[in-house]
Amino acid sequence: MKLEQIAKRFRIDNPNRFCLADHKPGECCGLSVEKAEAKSMLQDGITRLEELQEKLYASDRWSVLIVLQGMDAAGKDSLIKHVMSGVNPQGVEVHSFKQPSAEELQHDFLWRVGKRLPARGRIGIFNRSHYEDVLVVRVHPELLSGAKLPAGLDGRHIWRHRYDDIRSFERHLARSGTLILKFFLNVSHAEQRKRFLDRIELPAKRWKFSMNDVTERKLWRKYMRAYEDAIRETSRPEAPWYVLPADNKWFTRLVAAAALVEALDRLKLEYPRVQGRALAELKKAGKALQAERGGRR
Ligand code: ATP
Ligand code: MG
Repeated sequence: MKLEQIAKRFRIDNPNRFCLADHKPGECCGLSVEKAEAKSMLQDGITRLEELQEKLYASDRWSVLIVLQGMDAAGKDSLIKHVMSGVNPQGVEVHSFKQPSAEELQHDFLWRVGKRLPARGRIGIFNRSHYEDVLVVRVHPELLSGAKLPAGLDGRHIWRHRYDDIRSFERHLARSGTLILKFFLNVSHAEQRKRFLDRIELPAKRWKFSMNDVTERKLWRKYMRAYEDAIRETSRPEAPWYVLPADNKWFTRLVAAAALVEALDRLKLEYPRVQGRALAELKKAGKALQAERGGRR
C-alpha cells in the first residue's frame, strides 16, 4: 500500500454522506506495527516530509495550516512530536488553544486564530482551534454567554452561521495560498478510558490528568454528534478533514504523515531557481573564493 492511497482513504471527500460510525478508531488497513512494511512507510513519510518542508520554506509562497482536534488523550501532542520529528523546527509553529481569555472574548471567535496563522513558507499547527467554538461550545451552550454576543445574534441559527463563517474563512485562506489539512483524531471511548487509567497509574503521566477530562467523557455522545456535524459542514476540497483512526498511535502517525506528504506533493514545490544575472554573480563569487590564498580545497 502506498502513502498516497492511505491519505485518500481517510480524507472526507463526500461530507454529505459522512457518518462517524463508519470510521473505526482501531483501523490499521491490515498493517502491523511489528512488520517492516509499516515501519518503512512511516520512515519514508517522515523523510519525504523533511524534504518537502525545506522546499516549502525555500520557495516562500505557500503556508501550511494543520488543525488538530480530538477528545482528551486522543494523542494530539504525541502526533505533533512524532510526525514533525524530521522537520526543521525553524519552519514550524505550534499553537495550543485553551479556554478563551478575557481579551479573546472581547472579539469574534476567529480573531484569536487569525493572529496565529502561519506565514508563507511555514507550517502552523493548531492544537485545538476555531473548531472548539462549534464543538465544546455546542456541547456546553452556556459558554455562549461568555462570548458576549449582542441579543439576537446568539439564537438557534448560530451553529449554521458559524459553519458558514468557518467555510468562508478557510476558503479565503486557501485562496491566499494556505494549504489546509484538518485532522480529527478518532479515539474510541474504551481506548480513552485505558489512556486515562494510564495517566492515573503512571507517575510520569499523572500531570496530564485533569478531573475535567472525566466530566467531559460523560458527554461523549454529544461530542461525537458535534464532531460529525462539524466535519460534514466544513470538509471542503480546499480544507478537507481527515478522520484518523486513533486507537493505535503508530497508525495515526502514519496516516497523518501520508496526508501531509500527499497534499504537499500536489503543490509541486521547487527550490527557487538562480538564473541570469544572479547566477552570473554566484559564479563570480565562486571564482573569487577559489582564488583565495590556499587555492582549491
Ligand atoms: P492536554 O489535556 O492534552 O494537555 P488540551 O488541549 O486538552 O491538552 P487543556 O488545557 O487540558 O488542553 O484543555 C483546554 C481546554 O480548553 C479544552 O477542554 C478545550 O475544550 C477548551 N477550549 C478550547 N477552546 C475553547 C473555546 N473556544 N471555548 C471554550 N473552551 C475552549
Ligand atoms: Mg485536556
